[in-house]
Amino acid sequence: MQLSELQQEVDRYISQFQEGYFHPMTLVVRLAEELGELAREINHHYGEKPKKADEPEGDIALEMGDILFVLACMANRLGIDLDDAFSATMHKFRTRDRDRWTRRDRQDEHGEGRRKDE
Ligand SMILES: [Mg+2]
Repeated sequence: MQLSELQQEVDRYISQFQEGYFHPMTLVVRLAEELGELAREINHHYGEKPKKADEPEGDIALEMGDILFVLACMANRLGIDLDDAFSATMHKFRTRDRDRWTRRDRQDEHGEGRRKDE
C-alpha cells in the first residue's frame, strides 16, 4: 500500500462524519497520546515496569497502526502528501547521512564492521 492510498482510506473514513478532521493542535496531542500508548506497551514488553494483573494485554503493532492513522489524519488536514514527505526524508538520509553508519559491504575479514574513522 502506498502512503497516498493510506491517506485516501483515512479520508474516506473521516469524511463519513460531520465533525471531520480535528484541528492540527488536537491532532498533535492525539499523536502524543498514541506515542505514549506505544511507549507503554514497549515498556511492558521490554522495560522494567510490568503490567498490573488487571490490565489488558496490549499490542505494539496495533499502537503503531494507531500512530499511522493519526499521522495520516494530520497530513490530510494540512494537505501534506506523505509519499513526498517520506521521499524527502529518505533523500536526506541518503545524502546528509550517507557516511554516518558502517556499511555492511565495508566489514573486515572478521565480519565486524568498522567505523569510517577507525
Ligand atoms: Mg492506541
